[in-house]
Amino acid sequence: MIPDENIQIVTLIDHKRNSKMHKVRHHLENNSAECSCKMYEREGIPCRHILWVMKEKGLKSLPAAYIKTRWTKAAMNMPMFDLGGNLIEDTTNLEAVKKKVGHLWSEIFTCVSMAENNEDCLDDFMKLIDGFKQSLLSRGNLQASGDKGKQMETLLDCPVPEEVTILDLNKSKNKGT
Ligand SMILES: [Zn+2]
Repeated sequence: MIPDENIQIVTLIDHKRNSKMHKVRHHLENNSAECSCKMYEREGIPCRHILWVMKEKGLKSLPAAYIKTRWTKAAMNMPMFDLGGNLIEDTTNLEAVKKKVGHLWSEIFTCVSMAENNEDCLDDFMKLIDGFKQSLLSRGNLQASGDKGKQMETLLDCPVPEEVTILDLNKSKNKGT
């Protein structure tokens, strides 16, 4: 990296861990920092060396740069970058795909419910879906049936339970009627 007057390098000696030396680069313009221990890059949690520098600089709360990734709900909507500005994970795209899939399911359900009273329409829709299915199958690497659980998870936006307990139906059944 190019030396920059906006960057202050603080060298810390960690007496708790074999007097290991760590260098924290503090970016003065936005109060972000990176540490040679790379804990933030590895785990997404600022290390105590960074925290120590922040505290020493009189910062009472963690700069926004450290809060935006992973720890907030909004993080899901943002691409994840490391401190060097490299894209780690493009969650925006993931979210967009999820939205698209949800929308597609709702369109399919709408089509089916619109067509269900007209057999010709149902046949047309079936043909259309079948045609598309064939074209997907011809692309080879796509799974024909997909993972039903995953599809439901996308649709419901929550995980499908691994175990479903079915209560004893006989208890609520009216016997002999
Ligand atoms: Zn560190």
